[in-house]
Amino acid sequence: MNKVAIVTGASRGIGREIAKELAISGIKVVANYNKSEDQAIKLKEELKKDNFFVDLFKADVSKQEECKNLVNYTLERYKKIDILINNAGIDKYKLITEVTQEEWNEMINTNLYSAFCMCQQVLPNMIHNKNGCIINISSVWGMIGASQEVVYSITKAGMDGLTKSLAKEVGPSNIRVNSIAPGLIDTDMNKELSETDINKLKEETPLERIGKAEDIAKCVNWLINDNFTTGQIISINGGWVIT
Ligand code: NAD
Repeated sequence: MNKVAIVTGASRGIGREIAKELAISGIKVVANYNKSEDQAIKLKEELKKDNFFVDLFKADVSKQEECKNLVNYTLERYKKIDILINNAGIDKYKLITEVTQEEWNEMINTNLYSAFCMCQQVLPNMIHNKNGCIINISSVWGMIGASQEVVYSITKAGMDGLTKSLAKEVGPSNIRVNSIAPGLIDTDMNKELSETDINKLKEETPLERIGKAEDIAKCVNWLINDNFTTGQIISINGGWVIT
């Protein structure tokens, strides 16, 4: 396989598993990280032991200049980009009345602008090659909303809007754009949840467990290999949210 992928926010959690899954399936992966250099190096070394490879690139994808650097690096090194996984994201739990403008800007730029900007940067190459697969990691909260996570839910609903409109715009260039909207996944993002909260969520979930990062990575792999799915919001949530 000669495909090239960029995965944003790949040093830990869901992004890490996606980078691993793609590297193991033979895709050349540029794994982006921002602050967690140690964890990114650990991922690279762990894969190297089994003769798999990821390339690391540091960039804060909430900033246009750094998105450009990430894409330029990938193009210089691999000459093309087939796959973009917009995974980087942050969450903050707050009542709407307590959200500052600075927090709003940070969430919008990290979760939503980053995805928009990365799409802008990779698309000229994908359009030129008439080939591409973009996957936005959104959230069930973008579909149904979450109390005390209004800004987060807005950013994820925005990503789904990006998915639907961009799928229409670039479909004629053979570029597919989809969202994967996870339910609760066991990562650092949920480390504040108590055991009681987690048990309650398990009880509410038909498949009686919370998700693992690998569940999302498997879906990414499936979407990459598919040919006829675009503009869709695929929710991986064990049946917790059925719309
Ligand atoms: P996580 O906190 O472990 O990972 C987030 C990653 O994004 C980290 O590697 C972090 O360094 C990176 N990141 C943050 N800001 C960045 C920036 N400016 N530039 C580059 N990288 C940046 O959480 P996770 O659960 O692995 O989350 C991954 C994605 O999945 C996020 O978009 C999140 O919103 C989404 N998601 C997670 C869950 C869940 O339950 N864990 C549910 C739905 C959606």
